[in-house]
Amino acid sequence: MRPEVLFPVFASVTTLPGVGPRMAKLIERLAGGKVADLCWHLPAGLIDRRFAPNVADAPIGAVATLTVRVDRHEKPHSTRGPYRVICADETGFISLVYFSARDDYLRKLLPEGSVRIVSGVVEEFNGGRQMNHPDYVVSVENRASVQIVEPVYPLTAGLSPKILTKAIRAALAQLPSLPEWTPAELLSARGWRPWADALRAAHSPETMDDLAPSAPARERLAYDELLANQLALALVRTRMRRARGRPVRGDGRLRSRLAALLPYRLTNAQQTAIDEILADMASPDRMLRLLQGDVGSGKTVVALHAMLAAVEEGAQGALLAPTEILARQHFQTLLPFADQLGLRIKLLTGRDKGKARETLLADIASGTANIIVGTHALLQDDVAFHDLAVAVIDEQHRFGVHQRLTLSAKGGGPVDVLVMTATPIPRTLTLTSYGDMDVSRLTEKPPGRTPIDTRAVPATRLDEVVSGLERAMGRGAQAYWVCPLVEESEVLDVAAAEQRHEALQKRFGDRVGLLHGKMKSAEKDAVMARFSAGELTILVATTVIEVGVDVPNASIMVIEHAERFGLAQLHQLRGRVGRGSEKSSCILLYGSPLSETAQQRLKVIRDTDDGFVIAEEDLRLRGAGELLGTRQSGMPRFRVADLEVHGDLLALAREEATRILAQDPQLKGPRSDALRVLLYLFERDAAIRYLASG
Ligand code: ADP
Ligand code: MG
Repeated sequence: MRPEVLFPVFASVTTLPGVGPRMAKLIERLAGGKVADLCWHLPAGLIDRRFAPNVADAPIGAVATLTVRVDRHEKPHSTRGPYRVICADETGFISLVYFSARDDYLRKLLPEGSVRIVSGVVEEFNGGRQMNHPDYVVSVENRASVQIVEPVYPLTAGLSPKILTKAIRAALAQLPSLPEWTPAELLSARGWRPWADALRAAHSPETMDDLAPSAPARERLAYDELLANQLALALVRTRMRRARGRPVRGDGRLRSRLAALLPYRLTNAQQTAIDEILADMASPDRMLRLLQGDVGSGKTVVALHAMLAAVEEGAQGALLAPTEILARQHFQTLLPFADQLGLRIKLLTGRDKGKARETLLADIASGTANIIVGTHALLQDDVAFHDLAVAVIDEQHRFGVHQRLTLSAKGGGPVDVLVMTATPIPRTLTLTSYGDMDVSRLTEKPPGRTPIDTRAVPATRLDEVVSGLERAMGRGAQAYWVCPLVEESEVLDVAAAEQRHEALQKRFGDRVGLLHGKMKSAEKDAVMARFSAGELTILVATTVIEVGVDVPNASIMVIEHAERFGLAQLHQLRGRVGRGSEKSSCILLYGSPLSETAQQRLKVIRDTDDGFVIAEEDLRLRGAGELLGTRQSGMPRFRVADLEVHGDLLALAREEATRILAQDPQLKGPRSDALRVLLYLFERDAAIRYLASG
C-alpha cells in the first residue's frame, strides 16, 4: 500500500484550491491529473522583472518594470476600441492598453496624477511605446508585491500562465516533507537539499542557470528518479535470481561436433559471449542475459551454443522470433546443423492448425523435439514443454517484458533466458531498461565483409537510380527497394510500395516482387522464397524486411523517403545487404527539403556502419523517448532525468542501488521506509510487490 505521507502528492489536482473540473482537464492534458504531475512540470524559462529602465530606454519586445506617473485616461473611441492610460516619466511616454476593461476599475487602479509601478512587455505602436494589459500595476509602497522573477511553464491551449502558476504554487504549498532516502554525505557533497525544498527550488528559478539540468535542485530530483528506477530494477533482478535455476552444463559433445560443422571460425566476440552464456547457465542462478549485436554480427550461432548445452543435458532449448518470416528463417538456418547432429528441431507458428499442430505440441511435450523455434504461438497456454532449460528470445524490442516472462515460466521451474537484440541500444538505455539483465555485446563483425557504399540521393534523380539498378541487375545483382508505407495514405507524395512495385514492374517485368505487412504469411513466404532462389531480382517491400531477413546475394538496398526513417531503422535496413562477398551499396533516396535533423541522420548513416555509434547518435538526435522501438519495449520515460546530461547520476544511482540491496536485500533496514517512499513516489510499486511476494 502507498505510504500515507504520499497521499497529498497523489491526490487529484481537483483537490487544489481554485482548480475546478474544467481546469483539471486542461492540466491533465498538459501534465497529468495528479498533484505529483504538476510538481514534475518544471519551468522551461523565466521572466525577470529586475530590469527597471527609463521609459525611453525600455527595449521593445522585452519585459520591463517601469516607474511612471499617470497622466490621463483615454476612453475607447468605439465600443471595441482599446482603453488607454497615458503614463510618463521624465524620459518619455508610454500608454497602458486595456481591451474590454471597466473604466471605474481602471480609474481606481491608475488614478490620474499618481505614481505607479507597472511591469509587462513593452511594445511599439504608431511610433510610441505601449504595454498591453500590464502583468503588474502597484503603488510605490507595494513594490514588493511585484514578483521579481517568475517561472515560465510549458502550456497547453486554454490554460493561462497565471492559472497554471497558481495551481503549481498550491501543489508546492502542500508538499509533505518526506523521510530522506539519500545519505547525508551525498547530500552535502552535492549541495543537495531535502526533496520538498529541492522541488520548490526547481520551481523558483532566479537565473537561467537554475533552469539548467545541472542546477543542484534539478540534479537532486533527477537522481531521485534514477535511483527509484535502478532500485526497482535491482529488486526485480534479485527476486528473479532467487528463483533458482538449475545448473545446466552439458558435456560439450554436441558443441564440439558443431565446431567441426561450421564453415567458419567464431569471432573473439562470439566466443566471449558464448563463454559468458555458458557460465551463466552452469551456475545455479537463473540466467537473464541480453545479447546485443549488430545486424550480421552472428548472434544465431551464439544462441545455438546455448541451446545445444541444454540438449546435451537432456533438456530442450527454444527460440522465439517476432515474425513468421524470421522464425522460418531461423528454422532453415538451424535445420541442417540439427540434422547433422542427429537432433530434432521443430517449428511452431500461428499457421500450424489442427492435426499438424497437435502432433507438434505432442513432440514438444514429450521431449521428442530437442529444439523448438517459433513465434508468439509458442506462448499459448496449451504449449507445454517436456523440459525447457533455455529460452532464447530474438529481437526483444518486439516483445514485452511480460512475454519474456511467459516463456521463461514454461519450463516448470525458472528457465534461463537469453534475449537477443539487433537494435543497438545505447549504454545508458540498456541500464535503465535492461538493468535487470547482464549484457554481452558482439562488438566485432565476422571477417570478410566489404563495407557498404552508402549514398544519399535526392528523389529527383530517381531515374538515374533505376538505370543504375538495371546495370547492376545485368551483372546478376539483386536489390531491395524499401518504401515507407503500404498503401496510399492521405499524404499524397508517399511512394506506396504497391505503386512503386507497379512502376518497376513496367520496366523490369516479372522479376520484381512485392512484400508488405498486409499480405498473408503464405504469400509472404512464397515471395521471400522466390527472392532467395534468385527468381526475383528486385524485392519492393515495406519495413517487414527490417528484421532478420538474410539473402546473401542481395547487394543493393534502395530506401525511398529515407528521411522518414529513424537512424536505427535505416541501419537495420542497410544491414540486409553486405552479407555476401559482392560489394554492396545502399541508396538513400530523399525528398527535399530536408530538415536539420534529417540531414544529420543521413550524414551519420553515411559516415559510419557501427551500430553502437549509430545508436548513440540516434539518442543524441532524438532523445531517449523517441528512439525507434523503445516505446513499445516499455523503456521508462523519465519526468526529470535526462539521460543525455545525467549519465553520471545514472551511474551513481546504479551503484547506490546495488549497495543498498547488498546490505539490505529485503529493504527492512533503517533507511528502508524512506526508500519505499521513493519507489512509490516514482510509481515503481511493481518492484515493491516483488519484495512482498519474494
Ligand atoms: P545476426 O543474427 O546477428 O544478424 P546471423 O547470426 O544471422 O547475424 O549471422 C549473419 C551471417 O554471418 C550468417 O550468414 C552467418 O552464417 C555468418 N557468420 C556468423 N558468424 C560468423 C563467423 N564467425 N565468421 C563468418 N561468418 C559468420
Ligand atoms: Mg538474426
